Amino acid sequence: MAQVTLSQISKVYPNGAKAVKPASFDIPDGEFVVLVGPSGCGKSSMLRMIAGLEDISTGDLHIGERRVNDLDPADRDIAMVFQNYALYPHMTVRKNIGYGLQNRKIAKAEINRKVAEASALLNLDDYLDRKPSQLSGGQRQRVAMGRAIVRDPELFLFDEPLSNLDAKLRNQMRIEIKALQRRLGVTAVYVTHDQVEAMTMADRIIVMNAGNIEQIGTPFEVYNRP
Ligand code: ADP
Ligand code: ADP
Repeated sequence: MAQVTLSQISKVYPNGAKAVKPASFDIPDGEFVVLVGPSGCGKSSMLRMIAGLEDISTGDLHIGERRVNDLDPADRDIAMVFQNYALYPHMTVRKNIGYGLQNRKIAKAEINRKVAEASALLNLDDYLDRKPSQLSGGQRQRVAMGRAIVRDPELFLFDEPLSNLDAKLRNQMRIEIKALQRRLGVTAVYVTHDQVEAMTMADRIIVMNAGNIEQIGTPFEVYNRP
């Protein structure tokens, strides 16, 4: 069974804007899917519906076996990584990574173990006691990923996570994110307007334009078409 199943999902905002026209697709377990398209085409709206940050106007959304249309983000087994990191400035790296687990009745030792595991995976061991302001852009992005990883999500959602980084760092983080996703074997939906990111990271690309899905295929199928 697919990890994520979208059946005739659409988004109409209260002002009447049809951001996503009815669309259906499946994302198999473990696949890295990139939603790509120009600004305003509906990528974020699609991602935010999957995350539960935006109501679904029509259609059904399943994550695993569960219909999640009416579930809160916290109940969906997802973790998000945003471009603005969304880190807490007053907390250390250690606290930032572990924060989402604190009110889940998870024992302190278990939280510490998960934080240690994530920080080792992300090369953050030497930075655990720093505040976000004392980190580079790439390190901050790794902390944001650490916060996502400790949740053990079924599904990773990325919203333009690299667009604030310079070109060199962007290249490096593309490789890191992809390697991490492979290693964890977790399903990922990644939104970007950058075709290079789509081409290099995706197992499958979904091309959106003006609220429609125009094409779904492998990077080769999408970018080598005559
Ligand atoms: P993208 O992520 O591809 O830039 P969005 O999903 O952000 O696209 O936006 C798709 C369309 O929906 C755009 O026309 C945008 O103006 C509109 N839109 C996005 N958010 C809202 C909102 N909260 N209210 C009304 N219209 C919105
Ligand atoms: P609980 O299961 O106790 O409700 P949550 O799953 O809501 O706990 O996690 C606590 C907080 O952590 C929530 O506000 C959640 O949104 C937040 N959180 C922290 N990092 C992330 C992330 N990367 N993706 C989604 N939510 C996150």
